[in-house]
Amino acid sequence: MVDENDWRLTGQEKYLKGVALYWREYTRSSESWDHDHCEFCWAKFMVEDHPDVLHEGYTTEDEYRWICKKCFEDFKGIFDWKIGDE
Ligand SMILES: [Zn+2]
Repeated sequence: MVDENDWRLTGQEKYLKGVALYWREYTRSSESWDHDHCEFCWAKFMVEDHPDVLHEGYTTEDEYRWICKKCFEDFKGIFDWKIGDE
């Protein structure tokens, strides 16, 4: 568990508290946008293979927000996420 002073927490509870999350493979949302970042630690999600990028993670249903596995595990107790059924 982490505490509420963790450096990764910057007010995400306003839009991520209690939302449903889905474990998915990362896909590009548009031709002009080739990556996203974890909402908490800024780990990078990409389709292409590069060092230190993630290819799957937890995402909101619209795939607008992405959360890496580590941050999911660290913050699930604070954010009360629901895991959505595919
Ligand atoms: Zn993260």
